[in-house]
Amino acid sequence: MAEIIIDEKKCNGCGACVDACPGDVYELRENKAVVVNPDACHHCHTCEEVCEQDACHIVEEE
Ligand code: SF4
Ligand code: SF4
Repeated sequence: MAEIIIDEKKCNGCGACVDACPGDVYELRENKAVVVNPDACHHCHTCEEVCEQDACHIVEEE
């Protein structure tokens, strides 16, 4: 399991994570990324790589 965390203060709504995520985990709502489909995350960490604001993080849980 992983927890998907978005720092709303850092997120500028660029949509890069929405476009890059192969699992459609994110959507943009009111110019912020929100997690809508957490079960589809397969921990590729692509969203972290494309986010220039360092706003989204995948925290692996035991
Ligand atoms: S890539 Fe980062 S800044 Fe852009 S919408 Fe996603 S979380 Fe927000
Ligand atoms: S780690 Fe991969 S599958 Fe999970 S939210 Fe980020 S881009 Fe999507």
